[in-house]
Amino acid sequence: MMVNEVTLILGGNKGDRMQLIERATILLSEFATILKKSSIYQSESWGGVADQDFLNQAMVVHTEATPMAFLAQIQSVELTLGRRREVIWGNRTMDIDILYWGEEIIQLPELKVPHPLLDQRRFVLVPLVEIMPEFVHPISKKSQRNLLECCEDQSRVEIFDHL
Ligand code: ADP
Ligand code: MG
Repeated sequence: MMVNEVTLILGGNKGDRMQLIERATILLSEFATILKKSSIYQSESWGGVADQDFLNQAMVVHTEATPMAFLAQIQSVELTLGRRREVIWGNRTMDIDILYWGEEIIQLPELKVPHPLLDQRRFVLVPLVEIMPEFVHPISKKSQRNLLECCEDQSRVEIFDHL
């Protein structure tokens, strides 16, 4: 069986945000091996349609699933944690997006990898720089560190001090 190294971002801004990330981690570990986790970051809502700050965490996992099967698995985690399909970029309990699938480029109607908005979002790039600064984006060929330096997003992203 082929093992794929997949990078994810988890985030939510509704409910007990910290507990939801913990529960998502437990559910993810039922079908994937979690190799690396960033700190948890608090991020200003992006796109201007959500009212509360998000908590975000990036992770690197191993999976033997195909991309579409893995997408279905992460969507089932979102549903278990109370995700409702509401306004795009709006409030949600848990959003899990696939950022990278190894160095593969996937252009399916339901799945675009690398995630097409990744380079425009500080809340994604800041945790990526923490856990994989030298990883090269397979299309732009820039490292995560370089993508963050080039990113024009000014929004606030800070390590969440949950004490
Ligand atoms: P968003 O994450 O953009 O706020 P949703 O989580 O509601 O919005 O996802 C909408 C759709 O995006 C999903 O049903 C999925 O098919 C599609 N999608 C495309 N590329 C990806 C990706 N890289 N990771 C997760 N979902 C993706
Ligand atoms: Mg999503």
